[in-house]
Amino acid sequence: MPAFPRFLLSATAPAHFPPASVPEVAFLGRSNVGKSSLLNALLGSKQAHVSSTPGRTRSINFFAVSDRVDQPPRVLFADLPGYGYAKISKSISAEWPSFIDPYLRERPTLALCLCLIDANIPPQESDAQLLAFLRDAGRRFLLVGTKADRLSGNGRVKALIALRQGFDLGTPEDEPLLLCSAKTGAGLKELWSTIFAAAAS
Ligand code: GDP
Repeated sequence: MPAFPRFLLSATAPAHFPPASVPEVAFLGRSNVGKSSLLNALLGSKQAHVSSTPGRTRSINFFAVSDRVDQPPRVLFADLPGYGYAKISKSISAEWPSFIDPYLRERPTLALCLCLIDANIPPQESDAQLLAFLRDAGRRFLLVGTKADRLSGNGRVKALIALRQGFDLGTPEDEPLLLCSAKTGAGLKELWSTIFAAAAS
């Protein structure tokens, strides 16, 4: 999928967010889940910093994505800070910088949240908390299982079942789950389709 990304800005307060005009897709996940790698794989260029020191990015990085270089953006990508450093955390939002909560609850153009989880490990409490938060906020989300290249065919089937059960997902229409690999590109076409469908609705 050809995409022309352009880095817009890095925000650490709601006042810094870009004007709410184009539909937006948020990228969320625990630190080290493969979020930067997936963003770079989708955008076909090195946009996001692949972390050597987890937990450094504590801002929302906005990218404008166009179909062609001379066209206005079709969708904005919002790369949110990774979470899950705190071993014990009462609530996921206790660990977040203060601007994340208003972003996820109030951003009018937020069309879809991509919740990245490592498909190779069992469901994690912090991810379950994020999903509970998004359900409460009435946000549409797609669960994206990363690093699926590390699983065999049978392993992928098992992971899909374990993740759907572990996160207590609703119907595949309401709460879909997709396995992806930034390394092989598996699942990226489906991911783009979902992103554009959300941006168009
Ligand atoms: P972030 O902290 O969520 O931005 O994660 P990174 O993109 O920095 O990736 C964390 C680690 O997972 C790095 O060592 C990556 O090379 C590795 N990784 C990311 N995506 C994939 C993938 O699709 N397959 C495999 N096998 N490894 C991956």
